[in-house]
Parts: sequence; C-alpha cells; structure tokens
Amino acid sequence: MALHWAVDNIPAGEIPLFTATAGATTMRNPTLPSELDVQVELPTIMPRSKTRPSVRLTEAQRAIEQDAEIPYLTEQELIERIQQLRKERNAVILAHNYQLPIIQDLADFVGDSLQLSQQAAQTDAPVIVFCGVHFMAETAAILCPDRTVLIPDPEAGCSLAATVTAEEVRQWKQNHPDGVVVAYVNTNADVKAEADYCCTSSNAVKVVQSIPEDKEILFLPDMFLGLYVQRMTGRKVHLWLGECHVHAGFRAEDIARALESYPDADLLLHPECGCVSQCMFALAAGDLPAERTFVHSTGGMVRHVRESRAPIHLVATEVGMLHRLQKEAPHKQYIPVKADAICEYMKTITLPKLYRALRDMVYPVRVEEPIRSRARKAIDRMLEVV
Ligand code: SF4
Repeated sequence: MALHWAVDNIPAGEIPLFTATAGATTMRNPTLPSELDVQVELPTIMPRSKTRPSVRLTEAQRAIEQDAEIPYLTEQELIERIQQLRKERNAVILAHNYQLPIIQDLADFVGDSLQLSQQAAQTDAPVIVFCGVHFMAETAAILCPDRTVLIPDPEAGCSLAATVTAEEVRQWKQNHPDGVVVAYVNTNADVKAEADYCCTSSNAVKVVQSIPEDKEILFLPDMFLGLYVQRMTGRKVHLWLGECHVHAGFRAEDIARALESYPDADLLLHPECGCVSQCMFALAAGDLPAERTFVHSTGGMVRHVRESRAPIHLVATEVGMLHRLQKEAPHKQYIPVKADAICEYMKTITLPKLYRALRDMVYPVRVEEPIRSRARKAIDRMLEVV
C-alpha cells in the first residue's frame, strides 16, 4: 500500500523530511497502525503563526506579591489553609497531569483532559477549583453551569488553543458546507461552539472513526495529532496547522538518543509530539522497536505503566507527567525524553494561587449562552465516544 500524507495548505515547494520506501513491518500494539508497509512522504509543515500568550507576570501573580498575607506564609501553612478551606467551601480540586507535583498531591483527582471533564460532569461539589489551563476550566464550566468553577490564574493559556479562532472555523465551514469539524479539546469555548465533535488525545481516533465515511473532516488545531489520527483511521482529513510549542519541540533525534541510552525501555509518545510522524517512519523502516513503542494520551500512559512489565519507561511528553507515573507505579523508572519539555502555562498554577483561589473565590470561569449550549453538544459527543 502506498500512502501519501496529504496536508492542506502546505506551502509550495515543501521539502519532505524523509522520502523513503519502507518494508512491511508487523505491528504488535494497538497504538500503532496495523501495517506499515508504506511509502511515506512526510511534509514539512509550517504552522500558522499566532502570538503565544504570555504568563511572565500575570495579574494573579501581581496580586499574590501585593497580598498582605500570602507572601509571609510557609509552604506548610499554605497547605494547611488549603485543606481547611476546601472543606469549608465543599470544593473539589481537579488537576491536570502536567501540574506541579505539589498541586497534583493536593488534588482530589488528577487526570488528562477527558478524565477531568468526566470528573467535572460527575461531581456534586458546588465549587470546582480547576488546576489546569483556561480551556480546561471552560470545559468544566460548560458541563457544570450551576457550579462555581474557579481557576487560580485565568491567564494560564495554551499555545495550541491560541492557533485557531472561531472566525477561522466559520470561514472553513462556509467553504465546506457539508464538512464536519472535529475540535481537539485544546480549544477555546467559542471554537468548540463551531465544532461538530470535540475529542481528546485518548479518543480522537475513535471520534473520527465514528464519522460517516463520505464526510469531509477538518481536524483542529493540532497537526501532529491530526496526522496520527489520519494514519490510524486511514481517513484523509483536512489538518489545521497548529501545534503545541512544548510537544512540537520533540525531535526524532531526542527519541534516538534516549533509546540508545535505554535500549530495553518502553517508549511512551504523546500523539501531539512533533516527532510522532518521523517515529512512524522509523518504525516502518525498523529503526524503532514496534513492540516497545506506544503512542498514548497521558491517561493511556498511566494505564500502560500500571500494566507493562518494562522496568524503565522513556516518557515523551510534558515533564509533569513523570510525577504522576511515579505515583502510579513507584517501583519503575521514568526517564524524560526531553527534560526541558515544560509547559509554562500549566506551571503558572502555584500553591499560593491555589490558596488565594479558595480564600477569595477567584477567578470564576463562566461561558455564556449561546456559546455554552453549542459547545456542550460537541463536548457531549466527545464524552459518548470513550
Ligand atoms: S502542554 Fe501544550 S497543549 Fe498542553 S496546555 Fe501546554 S501549551 Fe497547551
């Protein structure tokens, strides 16, 4: 089978990173295509350039520095006050896998985007403190309009979500009136409102598989996840040329170096990583071990390390994940493929800000109608396909 990875809007004169014919390879794990007997042409994709939100000195950080109490509290005092306030407020603390270790340790629930959405939808707590980035707190607010959803720093943005606007999606829909828009959960609420389906990295493949074959699909905003979905489903999808600056930084050389140092380790790759496409090529060429290379969402990584027999895991995603994995399976060793893969947006949620969120009930996140209801439909479809 010859496969050409076609991508919309590739600049003229594209230069493939690799052009090669690979031999047939038998795959033995479900996170990879069932066959890689392919001629692979990988395009060099130039992402749309958008301003990356800055979190250098946020309003929440300034408020902490000027606070009459917080700068004088020790870490232990902050923790004790958080514990007391969460009871008084009857609050649930949800934290993403990329949060700082201390935030993860305090949370009632730690998970990936899909799991956190499910938790938000299920909780009875009147107050949800969302320790993650803004689009995640928005998702919780969309699912729970009758609860108070707080984010400790509302400027915790996302470079990936910032690559697409609702107006741009409307324009695509105008040009493709019968097309279906699948929006990765890393999008703002007004973009979700324009989408037919939401998905996360854990169910993106299933969501696309659930769409009738004759439909044109726009997958946004992450091009690397989109390429992975295209590869796994065999569907040609229009890809939005967005990327997460943290995951885009992973290169095939990083993977090769890590595998050279730990030849017996399992390799866990997040599908947003910039190197996933090259890794699939390397798998097809036999340069990566198919039986030890796994493409997983962060939730999938947790399940993997619980079940795998491998004593060492190479982890290709944001480094906050290592704390989570260490807690899940402490007897194993975890090596970051790129130790500087740090999301400054996730790390902008700190202990003092969490305390202030509970003390002052800041910052509430609300999504107004009609955007909320329209986004809700796309999110409900995501939650149905798990
Ligand atoms: S790791 Fe990337 S996708 Fe995730 S919140 Fe940070 S910038 Fe966004």
